[in-house]
Amino acid sequence: MKFISFEWEGKEQYGVVYDEKKILNLSQIRLKESSFPEGLLEGIRQGEEFTGRVEQVLAKPEAALAAFFVPMQEIRFLPPIPHPPKNIICVGKNYRDHAIEMGSAKDIPEHVIVFTKATTTVNAHLVPIDSHRDATKELDYEGELAVIIGKKGSRIDKKDALSHVFGYTILNDVTARDLQRIHKQYFIGKSLDGSCPIGPWIVHHSKIKNPNQLDITTKVNGEVRQHSNTENFIFPIEEIISELSKGMTLEPGDIIATGTPAGVGNGFNPPRFLVPGDEVEITIEGIGTLYNKVK
Ligand code: MG
Repeated sequence: MKFISFEWEGKEQYGVVYDEKKILNLSQIRLKESSFPEGLLEGIRQGEEFTGRVEQVLAKPEAALAAFFVPMQEIRFLPPIPHPPKNIICVGKNYRDHAIEMGSAKDIPEHVIVFTKATTTVNAHLVPIDSHRDATKELDYEGELAVIIGKKGSRIDKKDALSHVFGYTILNDVTARDLQRIHKQYFIGKSLDGSCPIGPWIVHHSKIKNPNQLDITTKVNGEVRQHSNTENFIFPIEEIISELSKGMTLEPGDIIATGTPAGVGNGFNPPRFLVPGDEVEITIEGIGTLYNKVK
């Protein structure tokens, strides 16, 4: 199941991808069956009660659902969770080759590096990324797998960690390197408006066999810049969840970006930062492709 938020006929709605061409509009079904949640975040909070009900609807014959389909081409994508209640939690330097390209082998972390992006950064598939030319001259991309928490928890044991995950999506941790450098702290350089494209959808965890073994590729203008596999994580997802939750409660809808592999613009000599017109495509095995153009 691929869960999606979108704008259609001027309204914010959500649904589940039915096939390549259409979405089953759960907001529309909710008008008939009020037991359906108001939005995807509420659905994530309901957990299996919600996904079970969606499965029941999907099992109906296609003809019975005809009134609830929306053509994929007619929607405007929204971030899967359009209004995250909390900052986006991000793991830094979670691939050895990226830690080295940002400095040296001394930068390979022994403990999970964590920072956040403001909620105002969230952006969607196919929606342009603002180049913020007045604020930065060094805009960079970071293709990442993102984890969506489904079940609340603290002090989560590594062996239980994946049972707290609702699903997985793709995230571009767009970064202003100059701001990251001059302000010493990550937050401002990571929080430009629109600098966190997420999507196109959240794939339910039941459809991802092993999230720590997924191919990930980032292309800029069709050229492969990053290519790795999440099996190269320094800290696998179980460890990230366990470490974060030691003293901080994780809640349904929390978004955790798991870090980026080598090949960011800053890693090239000379650096290859994003400029208006550039097209960034991040593809993750089993999820899809997140596409954004820089404006
Ligand atoms: Mg990152």
